[in-house]
Amino acid sequence: MSSKVNLLGMNRPQMEDFFESIGEKRFRAHQVMKWIHFFGADDFETMTNLGKALRTKLAEVAEIRGPHVALEHFSNDGTRKWVVELDQGNKVETVFIPDGKRGTLCVSSQVGCALDCSFCSTGKQGFHRDLTVAEIIGQMWIAQRSFGAPDNRGIRNITNVVMMGMGEPLLNFENVISAMELMKDDLGYGVAKKRLTLSTSGVVPRMYELYDRIDVALAVSLHAPNDELRDVLVPVNKKYPLSELMAACREYVDKFPDTRRVTMEYVLIDGVNDKYEHAEQLIELLQNVPSKINLIPFNPFPNSGYKRPNGMRIKAFQDRLMKAGFVTTIRTTRGDDIDAACGQLVGKVQDRTRRSAQWQAKVAAKGKKIPVHQTGS
Ligand code: SAH
Ligand code: SF4
Repeated sequence: MSSKVNLLGMNRPQMEDFFESIGEKRFRAHQVMKWIHFFGADDFETMTNLGKALRTKLAEVAEIRGPHVALEHFSNDGTRKWVVELDQGNKVETVFIPDGKRGTLCVSSQVGCALDCSFCSTGKQGFHRDLTVAEIIGQMWIAQRSFGAPDNRGIRNITNVVMMGMGEPLLNFENVISAMELMKDDLGYGVAKKRLTLSTSGVVPRMYELYDRIDVALAVSLHAPNDELRDVLVPVNKKYPLSELMAACREYVDKFPDTRRVTMEYVLIDGVNDKYEHAEQLIELLQNVPSKINLIPFNPFPNSGYKRPNGMRIKAFQDRLMKAGFVTTIRTTRGDDIDAACGQLVGKVQDRTRRSAQWQAKVAAKGKKIPVHQTGS
């Protein structure tokens, strides 16, 4: 393990403090941040606006150490996926999805996830650990480096970020907040607050804390319109039921003065949560919560036990919600050929909760065979 300070995960005040601590002017932090996050530098020697003596000094005490890129996949539709290797063989995945002028990076926050949603392959692998700030921001850094420095008008390929990769971001609270601050900072990645989205499955107390700490867009993984069904699909609902979750969503909309809506994510699973009655209940549930709804056709993975509804069922569900006045989109599956779709971000997890072992034993008892990991396909 290196004893040098890793500058990659430092926000602006931390970086300024660091320079002061080594007897340098605080503004040096700004120059170095631009080198790291704008130009993707990892070598102080390339920082030509710093004097030779300072470059040498920095190389002695500090480093810019991003996570290791195990694999980079390019999809036919422009989607890119990085398999990012952390310690002990743990891997997470980061995906870039281009869409006209918009480029969205889907970032992971944890190795695995402890919340065990029944339709999510990340959840099926159990939880190992939180990512550090350097590992979270490192995913942006890796993507940025892959594109090269922004053009001479400063236009970047990554315009939007969604914390929708592996893990529950609100359960890695401090590191996610720090990383998002750096994403927003002009000396970091300059992502506008409305283009930076945190997605949560509904860790209610942390939602309130989030609003007090940072202004970003909010997405909620809803997936069911009543507690009975949500308890099964999103088990954290047993702790924070829909009434509490909806109150927290309303608070978000009230808290910020501009017109805000919460994006409600709803994975459509054939015969489970995609019936007419579910659409009706959803309309009722969201009556007092300004929302837009994003329908996500279920992405199958081996032995999930669930199926994706056919196109007609999906369209009918969308039509019902639209008729009730909700802006309702259907998330198109991107990067299918490189397994980059939602719910296929399985990484590789040294499962501490032993959930994957239990799950496999359960499936084996039913006489089925399942692969341990899907990554690297
Ligand atoms: N833990 C957070 C952040 C991860 S976001 C959350 O749950 O919100 C990942 C998104 O992909 C969530 O909306 C999740 O519900 C969805 N997802 C997970 N498994 C999926 C699958 N098999 N098919 C489609 N979407 C899935
Ligand atoms: Fe965790 Fe989100 Fe997957 Fe649920 S959907 S298991 S909260 S990553």
